[in-house]
Amino acid sequence: MSDIIQLLPDHVANQIAAGEVVQRPASVVKELLENAIDAKASQIKLIIKEAGKTLIQVIDNGIGMSETDARLSFERHATSKIKNAEDLFLLNTKGFRGEALASIAAIAHVELKTKKETAEVGTTIVIEGSEITAQEVVVTPKGTSIAVKNLFFNIPARRNFLKSNAVELRHIIDEFYRVALAHPNLGFVLFHNGSELYNLPQSNYRQRIVNLLGAKTNEKLVPVEETTEVVAISGFVGKPEYAKKTRGEQYFFVNDRFIKSAYLNHAIASAFQGLLKDGHHASYFLYLQVNPQSIDINIHPTKTEIKFDDEQTLYAILRSAVKHSLGQFNIAPVLDFERDANLDTPYLQTTTGKMPQVEIDRSFNPFSSDTPKTTLTNSGKSVSNSSFNASTSNSSYTKAPAASWESLYVGLESKGTKDAVDFNEMEFESAPETATIYNDVVKDERQYSTYQLKNKYIISTIKSGMLLIDQHRAHQRVLYEDFLKHITVKEAMSQQLLFPLELHFSVQDLEIIKQLQQDLEYTGFIFQDIKDETVQITGVPVSVPESEVSILLEQLISDVENEVPDSNFSVTDLIAKSLAKSLAIKNGKKLNPAEQEHLVNSLFACKEPNVSPTNKTTFITMSVDELDKKFV
Ligand code: ADP
Ligand code: MG
Repeated sequence: MSDIIQLLPDHVANQIAAGEVVQRPASVVKELLENAIDAKASQIKLIIKEAGKTLIQVIDNGIGMSETDARLSFERHATSKIKNAEDLFLLNTKGFRGEALASIAAIAHVELKTKKETAEVGTTIVIEGSEITAQEVVVTPKGTSIAVKNLFFNIPARRNFLKSNAVELRHIIDEFYRVALAHPNLGFVLFHNGSELYNLPQSNYRQRIVNLLGAKTNEKLVPVEETTEVVAISGFVGKPEYAKKTRGEQYFFVNDRFIKSAYLNHAIASAFQGLLKDGHHASYFLYLQVNPQSIDINIHPTKTEIKFDDEQTLYAILRSAVKHSLGQFNIAPVLDFERDANLDTPYLQTTTGKMPQVEIDRSFNPFSSDTPKTTLTNSGKSVSNSSFNASTSNSSYTKAPAASWESLYVGLESKGTKDAVDFNEMEFESAPETATIYNDVVKDERQYSTYQLKNKYIISTIKSGMLLIDQHRAHQRVLYEDFLKHITVKEAMSQQLLFPLELHFSVQDLEIIKQLQQDLEYTGFIFQDIKDETVQITGVPVSVPESEVSILLEQLISDVENEVPDSNFSVTDLIAKSLAKSLAIKNGKKLNPAEQEHLVNSLFACKEPNVSPTNKTTFITMSVDELDKKFV
């Protein structure tokens, strides 16, 4: 029997390869733009006619090609970008397979004009269906112009498969966006049928986004910035209130390359959880820089998926970075995220940091004083849905007179608290003797010893001078000790819900909830059922408004996930910290005098009032002496 295997002629092989590389005009646009960038162009012009069906032309001012290179560039596997397989792992160019031009030339009429900077004249080559039909010397500026005409002229089936001009143009613009967003330092112009659609000057990331998406975008952007050993993240997320029903404005770039990643997208979505209306999607423009060796770059040229070595870590870092930004810019109405301390240290390091040892004095009862008790009633003025009100309105609270809270600190200094404040000095100058401060009766001004500054600090006078409290941190401390106490003594008050709350979680998240279930129940949560990605809650801690349960648990899950994986953290402490962080009153929240005083007193009824649960200073004092010195 005779042999039957034969080598396909080049032009047929090229056509087959072209099927993979070139699906539609937009694929050509992508390849040509990327080549121009690889050629170090600073100005790139894209000219389109009939949605790319009749013309796609890219003109750049890059390094150009010599006459020989110009011819070679259309050969399959002809590339200037890698020489051997190892180069693949160090790649920082877009292309490397040497397939694009060969493929495009197999299925279209291509006209190339190119000149290197130092050359006197340039080269022009005309190719039709892989056949060079002309090559000449031309006068042309530095750089390269490639015009691709009549795409799929020799494959009618493919041509007929193209969608309407509107659809194909949309695809082209999508590609243009991806490339332009990844390279704001380059100028881009896009013409369609003779009219200029975009003219993007060289700029920075923010301006590029604004130039593409419109001036109004500027105010919608919240910067995201995070650098760790694994990844450097920069870019922006859109404020939740501007979220759209379409997923349009979602961009990840890894090492300046647009990628799609459902997994990382989920990280962002979960950072936004609770902040978006149903069916709305957060927009984001996030730029990740990773070591090229930590990603699998050997992906198909038209594919945008990417494989990371350590996707889970990336997920955690990304989610945390976005949450942090949303919190820092006061976007998150409820959650104010502390910077995740874990991200300051290299991820893989095994921390041997001392876990905070908060020990609960079970006999301690801040309410045991003889002073009359006051039941808080929310005055009509107080803002509803305030976590502060929510967390206080259900508890009867005793306003401990100065002397009694002072006694709580006996021996504190001997424990080696740094920057220890002399608590004996911290006697309120005019601590109100009675605790009728929540009466509707307007109190005499001088009975309040506090003043709120910038809706952020509470100023009070003490015997030695002045006390300045950070309201958010102070409240975190108060809530933290409260939760710890409840978890430790295992007797929290629950507030029964009228209707069970049904929350949905991913399988992974559900596992975490199960792990925390017991401790959460000690804080006052009542779980009726945890199964099939659904959690049914019938009771919540008295301090937790029902509307915030979902976001609270979401934050908790994220906090657990962001823990250094094998550090031996205490779940109890973590829960208390997370809930406190979520529920604490925010900076920017106006507090009425009664609330201010209540907070001050609660803080000093804490065991460790001088630091927040994350070890940040909650208050400072300034003595009259120090003040006097400032007035000399
Ligand atoms: P790849 O980009 O994978 O190397 P291409 O087929 O896209 O393969 O291009 C082949 C080669 O042609 C490139 O490696 C490059 O040397 C050259 N080339 C293509 N486009 C340009 C351009 N705009 N300017 C300069 N050189 C180019
Ligand atoms: Mg290329």
